[in-house]
Amino acid sequence: MKRSKKFIFPLSLLLICFSSLCGINREKDLESLREKMIRGQIESRGVRNSRVINAIRKVERHKFVPKQYLDEAYEDHPLPIGHDQTISQPYIVALMTELCELNGTERVLEIGTGSGYQAAVLSLLSKEVFTIEIIQALGKSAAEKLKELGYNNVTVKIGDGYKGWADKAPFDVIILTASPPEIPDALLAQLGEGGIIVAPVGDYNQELIKIERVNGNFTKETVTYVRFVPMIHGKD
Ligand code: SAH
Repeated sequence: MKRSKKFIFPLSLLLICFSSLCGINREKDLESLREKMIRGQIESRGVRNSRVINAIRKVERHKFVPKQYLDEAYEDHPLPIGHDQTISQPYIVALMTELCELNGTERVLEIGTGSGYQAAVLSLLSKEVFTIEIIQALGKSAAEKLKELGYNNVTVKIGDGYKGWADKAPFDVIILTASPPEIPDALLAQLGEGGIIVAPVGDYNQELIKIERVNGNFTKETVTYVRFVPMIHGKD
């Protein structure tokens, strides 16, 4: 009895060391997958803005995907996040973020918080991020995750993005991560002078568009074609 007790302590210490070493290795593996994603999916397709690349490098995407998809967190496709919604493909997040042309001073509105991943990336590149999610459970868990990970300049609201966030307007940048048939008037009205909107627009075949407000006029550019979840209409 005495003898076995003598062994239990060092053995458990050894087990703790082993499992924390495994944890460190796991983190290293995920970090190298993230690097590989940056090179193979993002830079190779033409995203060059070094601030954007660095933000993508810093945000631990695997912490924003459901546990069962951990191994796929850095793969080249969107992933389910529950409630029939998805976290966007990494390249699309990078491309849309680059189109926002952030320099660190902006107040950003995101429509469609989802997992909170895009908001985390934006938060490293701007002054403040306001993000609206219509599905309460998603908004709540994203808000908790962002807080836990220290993204303190992000505010999540449960609500209908079609209305925007009038109390916090005007915004320098508005980014939509769900697709409306056309850009809601409320969002155009809440965009400040010189501001940018980046959004997928359309039903099945969607255009990724960039709108700029110059001297009160809106210019529109189609960047590429994309497939996002449709923007849901609120009940009231
Ligand atoms: N940006 C997210 C991905 C979002 S998927 C991320 O990084 O994970 C699109 C999200 O838009 C979904 O969570 C969906 O519930 C939300 N959404 C759909 N219609 C909305 C609306 N009218 N207002 C706010 N959010 C909406």
